[in-house]
Parts: sequence; structure tokens; C-alpha cells
Amino acid sequence: MEHLSDLDAWRAYARDQRRLGRRVALVATMGALHAGHASLFRRATENGDAVLATIFVNPRQFSDPADLAIYPRALEDDALVAKENGVDCLIEPTLEQMWPDYPSPTATTVSVRGIGDVLEGADRPGHFDGVASVVAKLFAITGPCRAYFGEKDFQQLAVVRAMVADLAMPVELVACPIVRDPDGLAISSRNYQLSAEGRATARAISQALAALGAPDTASNHRRRMREVLDGSGVHTAYAEVVDPDTFAPSSDTDVGGARALIAGVVEGVRLIDNAAVTLQAGR
Ligand code: AMP
Repeated sequence: MEHLSDLDAWRAYARDQRRLGRRVALVATMGALHAGHASLFRRATENGDAVLATIFVNPRQFSDPADLAIYPRALEDDALVAKENGVDCLIEPTLEQMWPDYPSPTATTVSVRGIGDVLEGADRPGHFDGVASVVAKLFAITGPCRAYFGEKDFQQLAVVRAMVADLAMPVELVACPIVRDPDGLAISSRNYQLSAEGRATARAISQALAALGAPDTASNHRRRMREVLDGSGVHTAYAEVVDPDTFAPSSDTDVGGARALIAGVVEGVRLIDNAAVTLQAGR
């Protein structure tokens, strides 16, 4: 496995792979790699592409400095996880290379209106501007590629999809399913900040989503999630049902596929999860 940090070397690596006739696969992460990231790496290897993984804890997507300060970092373990799961080139750009002006704002920001303004975007101002801007930069350095994103961050995926379409970026997005622990909790680097008791409490989030198996109206889906979450100890930020493409809230006259999304705080740790749901008109 190659190990790079320099942006020019990274750009050259991707270009050389394309010259050799290989397509480039990109998996962007913030490190502290776990089974969720590993599933993206393995999926990215399936087409025989050159798999590039980036690790960059992007300060511009943290609206809370305290959250950034405690974000886990585990570079030695990360290199092992990347290597064992088929990554060809691990790239760890420095903050100075990615955002030389930080903490001053960059002149250019990519902002996805609408999808980026609701739910996580409303609760974490500037978060999706930070995400879209850094992903645009990762894509610009990498060049034409297939990029693998987890449905764990479903709104992030929708923001990136809108950006790629609106700006005609030469990137094919591949959405990958959520990897869960055996107790149902969606795997996240943030789970390690929870005590055993907090973990048990956090299970209510995936249980609330699992309760939505049968087709129903959007209001009934919302009510069912609240029934599981209320009194569970999870401080619910939202439990919403939205159109999976536009993120407009679903109404009770909508039918077909939608997405249920939950954000909840347990022991000060913000956790997110989501699931596909089917809407059926009420009787
Ligand atoms: P992060 O390092 O948290 O920024 O995540 C990097 C990528 O891994 C994103 O595309 C995430 O959606 C994806 N990811 C993180 N956790 C999971 C998971 N449990 N299942 C699937 N994908 C995940």
C-alpha cells in the first residue's frame, strides 16, 4: 500500500493509474476506521479499480470546536485497516495543504441549498458547506473517479449527489449500506465516546427505525419513532420522514419510497441513523 500526504503526489498517483487503464475509486474518511469504513473499501475493490482512501479530519465541517477537539484519531491502526481491506493508496493530507488559510475562511465555499439547510444542516450551521467544500476539493485533486459514500450519512450523500450533478463533476457516486453492530447500533467513530449504559440507551435509535417495517403514512411513521424514543433516555433532535432526493418533509398524501432519519444525543454524543420507509395513504 502506498502512503501519501502531498497533494501533487496524490494527483499524480491517480493520473498514473488512469494512464495505466485503471479506474480510480475514492473513499473519503475522517479516520478512526471501523467496520463501516472497511465495507466501503471492500466494495471499492470489487471492480478492480485503484482504491484511494483519504483520511482528513476536516475542521470546516465541525460547527462545535469541542467536538473537533475530541474527535478520535488512530493513524497507526487506520493504516492496518486500510491495508487489510484492499486500499492501494492511503492519503493523509495535512491541514496546511488542504486549508492553508485556516482558521480564516476560504474565499470559495460550495453550498448546497435546500438539502443542506435542513435536519443536520439546521442543527449544525455550516456543517454541509464544510462537507461539500472539502469533498469538492478531494474530487478536484483525484480527478475522474468512482466515489463510495455510506448511507449512514444519508443527508451527506444527498448533498454530495446534488453537488456532483449541479457542477457536472466527473464522479460516479456509489451508495453503500449502513453497517451495524449486532445490537443494531449503526457503527460510528462516535460510539466509542459512549459508556456501556449510554450504548444501551443509544439502541433506541435503531429500534425506532426498525419499528417502521410496514407501509404507513408519514405522520404515523413519525409517531411510531417518537413512541420508541420518548422516555428512552435519547435526547431526540429530530425524527423525520423526508423525500430521499429533495429532503422535503413527506406529507400524508405522499406514497412510495421515503427516508426516515433520526438524530439523538446520548451522554453528549450526537448520533445519527436512518432507514428506507414506504409511505401509504391513510384510510
Ligand atoms: P467518516 O469517517 O465518519 O466521515 O465516514 C466516512 C465514510 O464512511 C462516509 O461515507 C460514511 O457514510 C461512511 N460510514 C461511516 N460509518 C458507516 C457505517 N456504519 N456504515 C456504512 N458507511 C459508514
